[in-house]
Amino acid sequence: MTPTISKVIFVALVIGWYLIRYKYARRSRRERIAWSARGPAETALLLISLAGLGVVPLVYVGTAIPRFATYSFHPMFAWLGLFFAIAALGMFRLTHRALGRNWSISLDVRENHKLVTEGIYQRVRHPMYSAFWLWAVAQALLLPNWIAGFSGLAGFGILFFGRVAREERMMLETFGDSYRAYMARTGRVFPSIF
Ligand code: SAH
Repeated sequence: MTPTISKVIFVALVIGWYLIRYKYARRSRRERIAWSARGPAETALLLISLAGLGVVPLVYVGTAIPRFATYSFHPMFAWLGLFFAIAALGMFRLTHRALGRNWSISLDVRENHKLVTEGIYQRVRHPMYSAFWLWAVAQALLLPNWIAGFSGLAGFGILFFGRVAREERMMLETFGDSYRAYMARTGRVFPSIF
């Protein structure tokens, strides 16, 4: 494992993620939206997350900027990062497959929205966000730079904490008691153990 291979793994993670999303995003685009939270606040959250998980680390991979924040490379971290990157992509694919046409990049309710509670959604309410957390951890392990490595955790953290409660409120308003019961038997990001 070398610093260059570690950067290549991060780029592969970005490309793999894009390929998975592209396929499913095209299908869900055809589904009509009945209600949406889209607006300046949602756009800002999405841009912050995109910057932290994509723009900042890719600028670092391409240019080594910001140089002052670089620290020494540890192969062990990079190996762990590879493990997290593979887990993130696997999980991301499973969540897109399970959500199908109900997926959207923002908080939307589609006209024939179905509540998904099976497969990867059986024990966890937000496994796609779990996959993004795995990405953010992979990024921190793969890129030995305090800013480019940790911008993913910061950027996605802002999206996650700025959104997840509103998303659950939207799902409760749409699906009522079914979502309430689903909440009672699941965890947000990790399976609930109680
Ligand atoms: N928070 C989920 C989904 C992210 S995609 C996760 O992390 O896996 C965001 C969209 O998914 C939201 O607009 C919402 O309409 C939809 N969604 C969230 N949970 C859902 C579920 N259990 N079944 C169907 N759609 C869901």
